[in-house]
Amino acid sequence: MALLSLIYDSACAGYEAPFHPESPVRVLATAGYLQAQRQDALWTQPVIASEVDLLRVHTPAHLRRLHQPRDFDADTPYYEGIEMHARRAAGGALVAVDEALRGHAAFSLSRPPGHHATADRAMGFCYLNSIAIAARYALEHGCARVAIWDFDAHHGNGTEAVVANDGRIRFASVHQYPGYPGTGTSNLANVSNWPIPPMSDPDTHVRAVRDALEGLLAFDPELLLVSAGFDAFAGDPITQMTLERHHFEQFGTWLAGLRIPVAAVLEGGYSRELPVLVASFLNGWAPPANKVGCAG
Ligand SMILES: [Zn+2]
Repeated sequence: MALLSLIYDSACAGYEAPFHPESPVRVLATAGYLQAQRQDALWTQPVIASEVDLLRVHTPAHLRRLHQPRDFDADTPYYEGIEMHARRAAGGALVAVDEALRGHAAFSLSRPPGHHATADRAMGFCYLNSIAIAARYALEHGCARVAIWDFDAHHGNGTEAVVANDGRIRFASVHQYPGYPGTGTSNLANVSNWPIPPMSDPDTHVRAVRDALEGLLAFDPELLLVSAGFDAFAGDPITQMTLERHHFEQFGTWLAGLRIPVAAVLEGGYSRELPVLVASFLNGWAPPANKVGCAG
């Protein structure tokens, strides 16, 4: 049974905008819940992703733009220090790769999310594309083939744009359509998209998530990265999907059965139940180690 590595730094709670759904309580409440529930987990700090790591995905102009105090779009404010927060989130994904490659089930509990960020644009609450940065890092450090499984309720448009036509990477996204950002209805050579209509029955949705994973595994990846968003939950305030807690646990059990390293990063998830949803996913993936009982 894989040991659970949780990558977390409470510094990622250090920015917020009034009434914005991507809020500090998401990670603070989840960290507190996991600290109580998963005392078997190994807690590790993220690193700050280096410029070399970032430039495998982003343009120099984009990195400069993150320092300019102007909002990126209506959803994606400029915050004081956002460049460092985004680099820490990307660094969490890098540490998750390292932890996965040494055999742990690795989850980076961080913010901001990343999968909407393109090479040269921050959007959809995302500033740097942590999962794509992690994929290119893994390729640079000895992995020949990397797959990215994105079950966030929104299309991973940024990840798609970055990895399109990179034959070393396969990407699959299952997402609500119509929905933000309005993309993700057709496939590319190395990208498969699974648009799901709002309010679809959960069995249909879960089957698509499973088929997306199966397609990625057929690529025989040496590492699986997961854009783990929890906003396809029925109670999420910004989507119209129907998954329940046990479905996320089921996604985790699929990972538990794999024989390749797996690293996951938090993307979306805006309901108050986020801590329970994350814990369920992790319990399916890396069930709590049995406590060693007293003799007798
Ligand atoms: Zn999302």
